[in-house]
Amino acid sequence: MDTPLYSVRMRASSQGQHLAGAERIVSGAAVSEVTAAMVSRAMNCATGAAEEIHCSVERIASAVRFEPLPDVATYIVNNWQDGRQLAGTLLFRAGVEKDVAAQAVLLLANGAGTGGSVMRGAVIMDAETGERLEKDPSRGVRVSRMDLSSECRAELMRELASAGLGHHRVLEALVLAGKVLRAPGIVAELCWSDDPNYTTGYVAAPSGGYQRISALKPVGDSYGGRVFFVKRSHVSLEGFVNYMEHQAVLFNALGAISPPGKWVATDG
Ligand code: AMP
Repeated sequence: MDTPLYSVRMRASSQGQHLAGAERIVSGAAVSEVTAAMVSRAMNCATGAAEEIHCSVERIASAVRFEPLPDVATYIVNNWQDGRQLAGTLLFRAGVEKDVAAQAVLLLANGAGTGGSVMRGAVIMDAETGERLEKDPSRGVRVSRMDLSSECRAELMRELASAGLGHHRVLEALVLAGKVLRAPGIVAELCWSDDPNYTTGYVAAPSGGYQRISALKPVGDSYGGRVFFVKRSHVSLEGFVNYMEHQAVLFNALGAISPPGKWVATDG
């Protein structure tokens, strides 16, 4: 019989504001240790101590999908304006209309949530028309239940560190993007953090993999978010959201990891 796997999740907040979150898929034997490590991380958050920490442990009842991670590329840009131009180019290459890509960048830059706030989840956007498709635009869709097998985690940490990409955010975003890229009907993903000190973001696409861009916003800017692009006419939205929220995906092999390379903007 296969060993049962558990989804372990943590979210921490202070004064009603989200501080930190984490999630893993582990065997029963590792649940206690992993939960304790998550709580410790929330208690020692760089942005302040957590006032509330919620952990959940859930046995995964349905089949787990085992997948390889996407390839990783890193573009070093001169400034965030060039970064946004590059994001537009990569999104267009993936199949997003040019004006829709520009609209998505502006949306994240101005706050995609209610009244220009930062959303907790992601926008779903029609790659052809720019229409927003998520049911609740103040919350968006949250991707959950994805992780690395323990062998893959160790190997990935080694490989990322040797490529100069050892920041824990790279690993976590790669795993999330990896799950997104396996979604039925996904065209591309655009992301940058709402952390004012973390300006790197990415465009992920089935053909290009996880493509990091060194700057997508100025330092000190606390806006950020995620947009998942689909083609409305080609996708079952219910199936798409159900996959994002519930399908357990465990990555058990690495993609290629390229060293960072310089990207220079062109006119027009
Ligand atoms: P982060 O990279 O954690 O700073 O997140 C950047 C933005 O992505 C957040 O402001 C949310 O809008 C969105 N986001 C974070 N985690 C998730 C998730 N699990 N699923 C969907 N969107 C997320």
